[in-house]
Amino acid sequence: MPAQNPAPDARAVDLHAWEAGGAENAEALFAWVGARLAAHETALAALLSVEGKRSPENTLLPYDEAIEQLSLAGAQAGVLNSVAASSAVRDQAQREAQRVAMAGSALSLNRPVYEALAAIDLNGADPATRHYVERTLLGYRLAGVDKDKATRDHLQTLHEKATLLSLRFSRNIQEGAKTIEATETELDGLPPDYIARHPTDAEGRSLLTTDQPDMQPVMTFAASAALRERMFLAYYTRAYPANKEILLELLATRQEIAAVLGFRSWADLATADQMMGSAANVRAFISRLDEASREGARREHEQVLAFARQRQPGLKAIDIAGRAYWYDQFRRSAFDFDSQSVRPYFPYAHVEAGVLDTAARLFKIEFRRSAAPGWDPAVSVFEVVEEGVIVGRFYLDMHPREGKDKWFSAAPIVTGVRGGALPEAALICNFPGEKEGDPGLMQYNDVVTFFHEFGHLMHAILGGRTEWAGISGFATEGDFIEAPSQMLEEFFRDEKLLQAFAKHYQTGETLPSETIKKMKLAGAFGRADWVRSQLYYTTLSLDLHDRDPAGLDLDLITKQLHQALLPWTWLDGNRMYASFGHLTGYSSNYYTYAFDKVIALDFFAQFDPRDLLGCEAGSRYRKTVLEQGGSKPGRQMVRDFLGRDEEFQSFSSWLNEEFEGELLAGQ
Ligand SMILES: [Zn+2]
Repeated sequence: MPAQNPAPDARAVDLHAWEAGGAENAEALFAWVGARLAAHETALAALLSVEGKRSPENTLLPYDEAIEQLSLAGAQAGVLNSVAASSAVRDQAQREAQRVAMAGSALSLNRPVYEALAAIDLNGADPATRHYVERTLLGYRLAGVDKDKATRDHLQTLHEKATLLSLRFSRNIQEGAKTIEATETELDGLPPDYIARHPTDAEGRSLLTTDQPDMQPVMTFAASAALRERMFLAYYTRAYPANKEILLELLATRQEIAAVLGFRSWADLATADQMMGSAANVRAFISRLDEASREGARREHEQVLAFARQRQPGLKAIDIAGRAYWYDQFRRSAFDFDSQSVRPYFPYAHVEAGVLDTAARLFKIEFRRSAAPGWDPAVSVFEVVEEGVIVGRFYLDMHPREGKDKWFSAAPIVTGVRGGALPEAALICNFPGEKEGDPGLMQYNDVVTFFHEFGHLMHAILGGRTEWAGISGFATEGDFIEAPSQMLEEFFRDEKLLQAFAKHYQTGETLPSETIKKMKLAGAFGRADWVRSQLYYTTLSLDLHDRDPAGLDLDLITKQLHQALLPWTWLDGNRMYASFGHLTGYSSNYYTYAFDKVIALDFFAQFDPRDLLGCEAGSRYRKTVLEQGGSKPGRQMVRDFLGRDEEFQSFSSWLNEEFEGELLAGQ
């Protein structure tokens, strides 16, 4: 059907919680979310009051309005829970996120709404409308809407419990920062600006936190194995022991939900409406990953270990806390590449400009700074402009702040819809450069992360003009969501593109081609190991959700899988499961990253390497994938862009990129 949204003023709700005072004041946030939920209820009442024949206009439209209000409330409660300066507001935001999730779970079990949607006459409806209705009805059946009242009530209680446990699990990670002490000698190997940011006290000790900008350089550069191990254990126990019990309870709750719905395991339930379709298909994919990466990872590990033994005679093995450090040392030596040496070429401001410019040219849009307010003075706001018309807006909240979460993410802010609200999204990151005068020198993997998150952001914005809010932006199958982000990462490998923004922060010198070549070779080394890590996380996420969790020993299973899949020695005291935050959102479906990497690399192979930004693939990709949001199955989008299903070939060549000749030349 043509877009027949009500006139914009009928949707004229306050779109931004912070403009209603919700970022500073818990009561204002409560009221703002309450207003969204009231509008949600009103739309559902309108839907249910329809008499006679049901059509997309009289039934799907109010349903979509109800969904839009719920998404708006959920998105902003989620964001404020991550970024609000005041802990009272963060607490409130968490309660609001929970209130919204509960309204969502009540809706998912609302039988009259299900029956109304099922009664819509789809004759003559366009494919997007048909897909929206069919997917929604499938979601209803997976939620158990066709069960009796007592079972539905029980399911709702279980969903509410799972939501609460997930929020507590995430919150414990977010707020569980630890601090460790380091002696002056232990800081050996760390960059001078890092050491300058961590002055020693009277006893000659520096305090380091488990926040990313403090933690990551230690793991990569600190020569002291003792310091690396202390940091590693602090980092992976920052939500331990609290999250151990929470996780076990969450797994049990999920398994119970699956059992009530007639599924063998949570993993079968959670994949039923995904591209993957079943836990068995995930297992099959996992064994292809295992196969593809085993030999390469073995070879990489052997090389790194042999190198480490040369440097440190008597060294028996490398433990997991030494992996990043020894990889970095090896790369420096084998490729004559020092990852610190490129940091001066990646000051935050240049990188931001470069990422934005790349995306603008690739998707043929413009970004303009906006004076619109964000939730914090540190947030910069941009309008997305196409042919002179504003088509979306985004918020960059890019540096650490007291109370803000410590992760890197892209989040929807306003779900856009054609003829209605403009799509808005945000990046919430923790890149260096928060302090006045600090140029924020980034590591090259930080830059890759920036590209990655910006890929999500573009998906939300360019996919935000679909004809229904419920199929806008990120609303694809969950296991397609990491394809656009990982696709954009690949652009970082292009020399011309990099040189457009990688300029020395003091001298303005362009990052030399020779250095880029070395950086790329060094970057290619370690891919098999990266895939093995993904394999580890993926298998863990599946295994935890694909069995009866009664009597599950989290410590044992994480250790056994580690030993089966990774060559690095296990470190006792590692409680990584307690801060594996993706277990709440992805649950059993962490395979998404690796699966979408396969798709992303196949997508990227369609771009002309001589003219990445100018070739026709960019517009075609935007049109057949990004702009579709969730208006088609992911499988269909893959076929529309590639002309076939995804294949492993690009992934395998990426994984086993021949660098050995170069490696010897570099030594
Ligand atoms: Zn991502």
